[in-house]
Amino acid sequence: MSEKEIMTLADENIMNTYKRFPIVLVKGSGARVWDVNGKEYLDFVAGIAVCSLGHSHPQVIAAVKKQVENLTHVSNLYYTEPQAHLAKLLVDNSFADKVFFCNSGAEANEAAIKMARKYAHENMGLDKFELITMKDSFHGRTMATITATGQEKFQYGFTPLLAGFTYAPFNDLQALEAAISRNTCGIMLEPIQGEGGVNIPDDNYLASVREICDRHGILLIIDEVQTGMGRTGKLFAYEHSGIKPDIMTLAKALGNGLPIGAMLATDKIAKAFVPGNHASTFGGNPLAAVAADATIKTMLQEGVLDNCRKMGDYFLLQLKKLQQKHNNIIKEVRGKGLMLAAKLDIEGGDIVNECLKRGLLINSTGGKTLRFVPPLIITTQDVDWAIRVLDEVMEGK
Ligand SMILES: *Cc1c(COP(=O)(O)O)cnc(C)c1O
Repeated sequence: MSEKEIMTLADENIMNTYKRFPIVLVKGSGARVWDVNGKEYLDFVAGIAVCSLGHSHPQVIAAVKKQVENLTHVSNLYYTEPQAHLAKLLVDNSFADKVFFCNSGAEANEAAIKMARKYAHENMGLDKFELITMKDSFHGRTMATITATGQEKFQYGFTPLLAGFTYAPFNDLQALEAAISRNTCGIMLEPIQGEGGVNIPDDNYLASVREICDRHGILLIIDEVQTGMGRTGKLFAYEHSGIKPDIMTLAKALGNGLPIGAMLATDKIAKAFVPGNHASTFGGNPLAAVAADATIKTMLQEGVLDNCRKMGDYFLLQLKKLQQKHNNIIKEVRGKGLMLAAKLDIEGGDIVNECLKRGLLINSTGGKTLRFVPPLIITTQDVDWAIRVLDEVMEGK
């Protein structure tokens, strides 16, 4: 089928929930993807921080191929070895003692919200049910997670929202403390806000939030759906701050493109769930589990995190130079590891479209912010090329 035919077929039959770019992608390898006409793109979106090892990573492919030929799915009524191995790998490399598997970021956060409520119900008293989340946060698109998401544009038209949520401004400790009431059972936040525009808090912020939670005897839930799995240069972003959360959620890059999410907790908290409390049909199925297992092992063994830190520093430096040259367009650049952004004085959409025409995929958030979440395996040549394209596009503005 031609590009035009595929796009028409999709538009006629798929619900109108995405504003798509007019390209049809058919193949990916490393940091590159190709469209149906054979045109090559450098992919600095990576499925929105999903394909962190790059597209078609050989170790992930090998693991999935082997598994799909043996056993693709069985119910969680039974044990499987891939799920057990993956849980052990996550527990060994994080603060957590126990894992619950699901299929997406929203589902992982749903599980975290239920876990917090159940734990509070049984250990803190019936009046403790409220979660404080952050303004400009993003936690997913289900009813509970749009309620947790502190942005009205995601909630508009879907009221009534879930009861028991209140919001505080991000990176403001005084306001956070003031938001705590006698009903509060926990605080839920992203270590760096992703969809909200790559908002990076002060260095001591997360440690101070931990201290506030300890002082009030409430839970700290961190949403590492985007920041986790090496994105910021450590396996999990909370590691930068020297503290440990009580509950953490993962998804996006966990399976390098196979759909899998996870909610992790300490033993003390995890005990609140017993058989019958929570479940997922596909959660941790053997196919997704071997993909995640291969992803984590590759990430830890092959210098991926090291490359992420180095390329992140290099990319940020080049963005700063670009800002100096185009200071009429770029107001601010920021980032940690390979989660970077450029805040613009103009709408980002135009720049994104021009980059697409020249073969560079990037994404804009919150209207005027360009976001860069490339695979963690990119090279200095990839960064240089992307910067050259951005420079060219901004030259024409
Ligand atoms: C993407 C994202 C989610 C939602 O993940 P889905 O897999 O789309 O449900 C939740 N939290 C954060 C921080 C995210 O970036």
